[in-house]
Amino acid sequence: MNASMNAFKKRHDFLICVDSDGCAIDNLKAKHLLCFGPCLIREWKLEKYREEILALWERINLYGLTRGIHRFRALALALEEINERLMPIPGLSEYTAWVERTEDFSTASLEEQIRRTPSAILKKALHWSEQVNRAVAGLPWTEKQFFEGVDESLSAIADTADIAVVSSVNQATVTAEWQHGGLSHHVDLFLCQEMGSKARCIARLKEKGYTESRILMVGDAPGDRASAEVNGVAFYPILAGREKESWKAFPGAIRQFCKGEYQPLERRLSEEFMMNLAGGKSDD
Ligand SMILES: [Mg+2]
Repeated sequence: MNASMNAFKKRHDFLICVDSDGCAIDNLKAKHLLCFGPCLIREWKLEKYREEILALWERINLYGLTRGIHRFRALALALEEINERLMPIPGLSEYTAWVERTEDFSTASLEEQIRRTPSAILKKALHWSEQVNRAVAGLPWTEKQFFEGVDESLSAIADTADIAVVSSVNQATVTAEWQHGGLSHHVDLFLCQEMGSKARCIARLKEKGYTESRILMVGDAPGDRASAEVNGVAFYPILAGREKESWKAFPGAIRQFCKGEYQPLERRLSEEFMMNLAGGKSDD
């Protein structure tokens, strides 16, 4: 039974936090290549450069060290590159200035900025984001399947650990996806966009009485790892393009985690995670 944050009570000593998009659910490629990228092409009339735009959007959001960054940051990187390589983007500096300045990457914050300085590019960014939401909501369930091994992995830890889904997507979407996939019964608590950043969600969970050494975050992006680090909790990476392999190894890693012997493996997995995103090259 999924609880709300206030009603939630710790049942086990261990807590496993699991990111949803691109970690448990194989939906990132569809979201980026069928929704974010095509909406960008339409909004900025970039049809002529379709292949280049989809390739650069994929590089920024799926297979680079910037995987998982907020859509408004990704848009700034993409527009800067388009402006440099393909065609001028009018008003670009007004948008990048907002991205650099804002402390809150939300639609509300962008709307507020538009009220203060009603520039065309800010309105385009907002419209693009709304179109993306529509496109994502219209994706068929076949584009939102769980990775192989997630069900088995969560079943394997259900008697040992509490399980929280920690996601930066809105709660209605995340719970619908987990329910449709038949995996929501594994989840004690969903903490989504409305609860703030993933780091904030983990911090709130710590207040429920878990010790830091008994909390582990599972994620597919550097931001997931950072949310674990800032809270002093462990991280288990799901490697982009090797998700099935990562989930297959998960129950073994959790056994080590529960015995307090996870640190050497965590260091190795963490290096592998960053090298995988950097395209096999060391990041130093
Ligand atoms: Mg993710």
